[in-house]
Amino acid sequence: MSKLVIGVTGGIGSGKTAVTDYFSSLGITVVDADQAARIVVEPGRPALQKIAQRHGQDILTDEGTLNRSKLRDIIFNDDNERVWLEQLLHPLIRNQIIQELAESESPYTLMVSPLLVETDQHLLTHRILVVDVPEEIQLARTISRDGMSRAQARTIMAKQASRQQRLERADDIVDNSGSLEQLFQQLDKIHQTYLDLASL
Ligand code: ATP
Repeated sequence: MSKLVIGVTGGIGSGKTAVTDYFSSLGITVVDADQAARIVVEPGRPALQKIAQRHGQDILTDEGTLNRSKLRDIIFNDDNERVWLEQLLHPLIRNQIIQELAESESPYTLMVSPLLVETDQHLLTHRILVVDVPEEIQLARTISRDGMSRAQARTIMAKQASRQQRLERADDIVDNSGSLEQLFQQLDKIHQTYLDLASL
């Protein structure tokens, strides 16, 4: 297990994937909270069985996987169901993340989550790296990547921590308002800092 866990966060479309892919290419293990959330409801997992018991077999696709859009509709319209689901999944996601962190053998480990500062996930990390971009760039990149409307992108952004709230929690900040080349140059320096910290 690496002694040093760096939490990576940033709003939708800020460049978290661009950042973690780069660290990954440097040999650093990346634990992804979104991926952990998908793993805990894979077929065969107890959580999927519990969801099907509560909402009926209709909540599964023909292949037996979770019908996410159906579940999303249910919890969007019913707070009780949202709370039930969160109480079921949050501890499982946390355990999945802890297990993956424990298995990491790289000099330090990144844990990326869009909700790092909004949830208690940051408690699993030693430092927080924020991927920072002005809102206008964040909107433009999200719209061009996902083809969503400006209004949809804004709705998602409104549910996340604000740029200011995130920056207040940052130990390290990477500015992703420029080119990928400029991003990677900053990441090379940060990588060196983390290697130094990990060897203390
Ligand atoms: P999400 O929270 O939605 O998963 P994210 O934070 O992982 O998003 P990315 O997917 O890395 O964000 O980046 C959003 C989009 O912007 C992608 O299409 C990516 O290729 C592009 N992008 C990221 N950084 C840059 C950059 N420096 N210059 C140009 N495009 C970029």
